[in-house]
Amino acid sequence: SKLKKGLTKTRDNISNKIDTILASYQKVDEDLFEEIEETLISADVGVDSTMQIIDELTERVKLERIKDPQEVKSILISIMKQKLAEAVPNNNLDTSKSPTIILVVGVNGVGKTTTIGKMAAKLKQQGKKVMLVAADTFRAAAIEQLTEWANRAGVDIISHKEGADPASVVFDGIASAKSKNVDVLICDTAGRLHNKKNLMNELNKIHRVVEREYPEAYKETLLVVDGTTGQNAIFQAKEFKEVAELTGVVITKLDGTAKGGVVFPLEIELGLPVKLIGVGEQIDNLMEFDSDNFVDAIFN
Ligand code: GDP
Repeated sequence: SKLKKGLTKTRDNISNKIDTILASYQKVDEDLFEEIEETLISADVGVDSTMQIIDELTERVKLERIKDPQEVKSILISIMKQKLAEAVPNNNLDTSKSPTIILVVGVNGVGKTTTIGKMAAKLKQQGKKVMLVAADTFRAAAIEQLTEWANRAGVDIISHKEGADPASVVFDGIASAKSKNVDVLICDTAGRLHNKKNLMNELNKIHRVVEREYPEAYKETLLVVDGTTGQNAIFQAKEFKEVAELTGVVITKLDGTAKGGVVFPLEIELGLPVKLIGVGEQIDNLMEFDSDNFVDAIFN
């Protein structure tokens, strides 16, 4: 499947290593758990999440009197699924309500523009009327790139000049969305983490405009992170969580990385639902995230 293909490197990094470890043990002991623990941590599963998983694994293996190392894998898989499901019961990006406004945040280069383009194309294919708003006004290139994606996806875009007030672009976007009966308005917004105070002010101003001008709209705020950056993606998620009311995360570039383990700290440690994952540069390489399918894809 597309998901399995996209997660090849992560699977090599987790499943194949664990297979090798399990095959080298005659019985289940402390060292085995330690090796599994090291594998998960080195695959960016995160120290806290890994500890939780290993504690549970140790307990279940004891409780179920498992003696054969080969039987440990299926228990590990079920625990990883269970931990994700407990942390985030619902990963659904809800675009069923009309109107919906999706604010997209994330630092430069993570794949924010590409993700918005892919989302627009997908929603349009589903028969929805989609409009983009270029409210990341800091770089002219960002506005041009988003315009290209709007053309590719065949949807309208509202943009101002470089340096314009992001909130005023959003204001115009909402006005246009209302007059054209748009179902989903997707706003590319700021991403400069180096000045958190400015970032917070900018996002607060946009939120106020949305609340005042578009109270009828269902709102999602998505953070885009680059899966290849591992722990840096976790850092960005922590920072953005402090300045914006995130409803979900998109992890891009999972096709190019063995660091797919970042899903676990994002959900288990930060409580952020992973809603979409990018597994390639093409317009159709954006998938809905399902934790059971994800765990199956990195293990089977
Ligand atoms: P932005 O600066 O955050 O808007 O980033 P862009 O959308 O311009 O993307 C930066 C680069 O990442 C581009 O070359 C994209 O083609 C690439 N990219 C985005 N998403 C994915 C993905 O899921 N997989 C791969 N392999 N590349 C991606």
